[in-house]
Amino acid sequence: MDGSRIEPPPVIKERPLILNTQFPILIVEDNVVSRKLLEKSLIKAGYTVASVENGQEAIKALDEQFYPIIITDWVMPEMDGLQLCRAIRARDNAGYIFIILLTAKDAQEDIVAGLEAGADDYLTKPINQPELVARLKSGLRILELEKSLKAANEAIRVLSITDPLTGCYNRGHMSEKLLNEISRASRYNRPFAIALCDIDHFKKVNDTYGHQAGDRVLRQFAECIRNSMRQDIDWAARYGGEEFLIAFPETDLDNATIAAERLRNCISKIQIRADDQLIRITASFGVTHYVPKEEPHEINAVIEALIHQADACLYQAKSKGRNRVEAKPMPPAVKPA
Ligand code: GH3
Ligand code: MG
Ligand code: MG
Ligand code: MG
Repeated sequence: MDGSRIEPPPVIKERPLILNTQFPILIVEDNVVSRKLLEKSLIKAGYTVASVENGQEAIKALDEQFYPIIITDWVMPEMDGLQLCRAIRARDNAGYIFIILLTAKDAQEDIVAGLEAGADDYLTKPINQPELVARLKSGLRILELEKSLKAANEAIRVLSITDPLTGCYNRGHMSEKLLNEISRASRYNRPFAIALCDIDHFKKVNDTYGHQAGDRVLRQFAECIRNSMRQDIDWAARYGGEEFLIAFPETDLDNATIAAERLRNCISKIQIRADDQLIRITASFGVTHYVPKEEPHEINAVIEALIHQADACLYQAKSKGRNRVEAKPMPPAVKPA
């Protein structure tokens, strides 16, 4: 002994495993005794369970609720374990389903067949409790990994469609959304309106207060737009430097003009702090709308015509003194598809 302190072995903290409280494990087993035994084992291990008697019932149960873990018997009437595995993999499920196949068979080729049908793991009967618990834990680790991967993908997706400064959609996503809006409006014969808005004399803001203050103004401007829109219906994208496009689905020219007027008014009231001064801004708006006609229009031509018309209105609003809304319907000369 050299007298130095002996460090206790590190305690390996188990990360809390998701799911077992949120979703029950689905047991698929035709044999009553085996089913009851398995239910008991799982409940003893702290899981909640739901049980059905064959593959077909399992699919029905999945139609009603998501089960991230399924423990299924192999030999069953109606739909056996292998068929169930294949059916689950062919479905569009809410998330990954970890399937454990139960079998009395432990021949290697059967295990291979099970895994190839889509099972993730297998357990041979009679079930050994510690082995069951260990295999479930490995399943949960995989599901947790899948969950974090999904969250990471979603974060990347959001980043890829968002303008980093203002939090509005970026221009690339704007084009994609406009395509969807126009085809939707055409399909259901509904009006669709847009507004292009541009901050007045924004160059002066940058020149007077600095670029950083200008950025702050842009952020607050975008926030004001978002807060004044119909949530989950209207949307806004950053079209260019200090120019934004606001989309009004299911809205005709008159109502879009009222909405733009409300936005204009709201913007003229915001105050942005720069050092010890308050910056006030105004914005000009050009509004137009699309009303589907009998003959179908080529979608890209509609988008081009809409933006062109909104831009012309915006230009007019600027020439007439700024801090105003100008609106015109889309010109009829859009090529049929
Ligand atoms: P108008 O009323 O005619 O629109 O005048 P304006 O000064 O707003 O228009 P102009 O097009 O002359 O100037 C736009 C300015 O917007 C110039 C550019 O430096 C600034 N700008 C563009 N993007 C950004 C940005 O991301 N941050 C900041 N701070 N300024 C930006
Ligand atoms: Mg059976
Ligand atoms: Mg401007
Ligand atoms: Mg501009």
